[in-house]
Amino acid sequence: RRVLGSLGKSRAKFISAEETTGITFDDFAGQEYIKRELQEIVRILKNDEEFQDKGIYCPKGVLLYGPPGTGKTLLAKAIAGEAGLPFFAANGTDFVEMFVGVAASRVKDLFASARSFAPSIIFIDEIDAIGSKRGGPDIGGGGAEREQGLLQILTEMDGFKEFTSQVLVIGATNRLDILDPALLRKGRFDKIIRVGLPSKDGRLAILKVHARNKFFQSEAEKDTLLKEIAELAEAFTGAELQNILNEAGILTARKDKDYIGREELIEALKRQMGTFETGQEDSTAVPEELRLRLAYREAAVAVLACFFPNPSRPFTETHINSIRDRPNMQYEVTAGRVFTKKTEYINALVRACAPRVIEEEMFGVNNLCWISAKATLEASRLAERLILQTGMTAFGKAYYRNHSDLVPSLAAKLEALREEYMRYAYDKCSSVLREYHSAVETITDILLQKGEMKAAEILDVYKSAPRIPQPNVNP
Ligand code: ADP
Repeated sequence: RRVLGSLGKSRAKFISAEETTGITFDDFAGQEYIKRELQEIVRILKNDEEFQDKGIYCPKGVLLYGPPGTGKTLLAKAIAGEAGLPFFAANGTDFVEMFVGVAASRVKDLFASARSFAPSIIFIDEIDAIGSKRGGPDIGGGGAEREQGLLQILTEMDGFKEFTSQVLVIGATNRLDILDPALLRKGRFDKIIRVGLPSKDGRLAILKVHARNKFFQSEAEKDTLLKEIAELAEAFTGAELQNILNEAGILTARKDKDYIGREELIEALKRQMGTFETGQEDSTAVPEELRLRLAYREAAVAVLACFFPNPSRPFTETHINSIRDRPNMQYEVTAGRVFTKKTEYINALVRACAPRVIEEEMFGVNNLCWISAKATLEASRLAERLILQTGMTAFGKAYYRNHSDLVPSLAAKLEALREEYMRYAYDKCSSVLREYHSAVETITDILLQKGEMKAAEILDVYKSAPRIPQPNVNP
């Protein structure tokens, strides 16, 4: 891929420019509907005049939002590749520098470069770094500087009039809720597309894309293996799935094997999860640090289960003898009708935060591991379900199947409300774990010694341990 030579040296430092990206929609798998929407834009970009005659114009801005590693950059490059247009990329964080005036002048440079090769594509990754709400809290400083940069983006986007000088601006962010609403107005980023985590079928499709250049014993074997990995790799992003295949390739080469086998794939999957092969249920094989972390996780989950018992599912026992994403705490299943109240949905959210909260408390925020990541995922899902599917929150009374049903304004509202619920859940959980810190320590010690604990024993510790009173946390 040739890099555009005519960019000045100073620009080249923060703009990466490619004459053609060489990426197509075939490189992106899963979430086919996203491709269908973007394909339409590509068609307009390619046949500008024909569409113009019919009064159909290309949007000026497309905003891709979703978690990191889900393929937003890939999609932006695919649009450029499919339309055969040059691609100019910068990162929102590069605009925000310590020197006054840099942000605005860099934005100007970026647009000027792209315009001189128009029609072309601009991609601004992490656009929230520069495009967050004005007048909000100035996290990380540089507020005035950022504001100048944001204003410059708005000016540049409003400046394209002629279709022939078309520059399509693609932004990417994982925080739609903090973006300045001015960016989302008509004539700016008026096409907003959510790029979410792939479904099971999506994961399989992504694995197939990245298995194209890998060797397997046979096509049938490859199909079976990839299906199994897609099943196991719940909540993985495209980037993580790609890593699994790369890692499996490396493991295979290291063993001097010709084909990737099940063993290599499973090992790569486990590495990606941050867990280890332990030889099933063999507690002595769990590394010491992981054992300690698991014990704290189970202890925190146990204390929360005592504090906010789930009325329809009393807990029975827990252990630290196996490594699983979800806590090992076991629950009784009550037969008959379950009668779930709103408070229980919220308490479930508070309980789900326990592994994350205790890990931060005991190991520090810079020392979190996959245990926290899995808890965050679980809590986010619960919050989303409460907001979208119960009609019990300020979000409104309607039912939404998922994120992708939402128009942009509602999506932003969802993110803001979810943030609020998550914050409450996290704070409440912290407060309970601090109050019962002594119980947490005792349960952790017992788990480390015996490996397991029954409900009665847990409740005994919970009731008799000294408590440290905490300030109230209210919803
Ligand atoms: P983001 O910009 O959302 O953080 P990237 O586009 O940088 O994510 O993704 C990193 C890499 O992960 C991509 O280059 C691609 O190889 C792989 N990847 C992510 N999502 C997908 C997908 N849906 N299909 C195929 N590959 C993917």
